[in-house]
Amino acid sequence: MSIKQNLNQIMANIDLAVKRSMVVRPGDQVKLIAVTKNQDVEAMREAIDNGITAIGENRVQEVLQKLPVLARAVECHLIGHLQSNKVRQILPTVDLIHSVDSYRLAAEINRVAAKLGKRQDVLIQVNVAGEVTKFGVLPEQTIDLAKALNELKQVRLCGLMTIAPHVENPEMVRPIFKKLYQLFMELQAMQLEHTDIQWLSMGMTNDYMIAIEEGANLVRVGTGIFGARQYE
Ligand SMILES: *Cc1c(COP(=O)(O)O)cnc(C)c1O
Repeated sequence: MSIKQNLNQIMANIDLAVKRSMVVRPGDQVKLIAVTKNQDVEAMREAIDNGITAIGENRVQEVLQKLPVLARAVECHLIGHLQSNKVRQILPTVDLIHSVDSYRLAAEINRVAAKLGKRQDVLIQVNVAGEVTKFGVLPEQTIDLAKALNELKQVRLCGLMTIAPHVENPEMVRPIFKKLYQLFMELQAMQLEHTDIQWLSMGMTNDYMIAIEEGANLVRVGTGIFGARQYE
């Protein structure tokens, strides 16, 4: 299947999942992020030329190499773990950072954003399942971190992100998505003054339909669009 065909299929699946969904979704649309890690710029262009408006990458170096030669207007989302010492490099380029998981990192983003005269949109990454191998704050730490980020003037907290455990049957991770949705609604209801809680980033190739059914409005799909990645 071509990238175009894959995208058509995924768009149709997204519509189906939205129709099945029983929850109130933040905003009423779902944005599909094409995860382009390990994909060359040719493939990225093909996705963009077939309707993709946002790409997701997990390595700062890779973004800095590919974006200048891409020659397409596209939103850039950082979805992988971000080290404090890379903040300075990525901030001029990135639209939304999905992976803020400590006050220390947020403070560094705040410091660099101030220098650039930018307000940086971020999400808090939540490790809902408490997996030791995953980054992210635990659910019970999320609200405290959100309150702390609310005090950082150059950072705008826009929502939450999670990576569900990899399982054969995506039904198994539905409770994870339900839990993040609850946390999201709690955060939104707090109406913290300097936040704009609007994005719930959950769902990947294997589980995006379930995530959408449970309220996701940002889904991050890589292999479903481009096929299997070569180097992982
Ligand atoms: C790689 C990656 C994805 C996409 O995974 P696929 O299974 O290829 O869809 C989504 N989110 C994050 C954080 C990733 O690192």
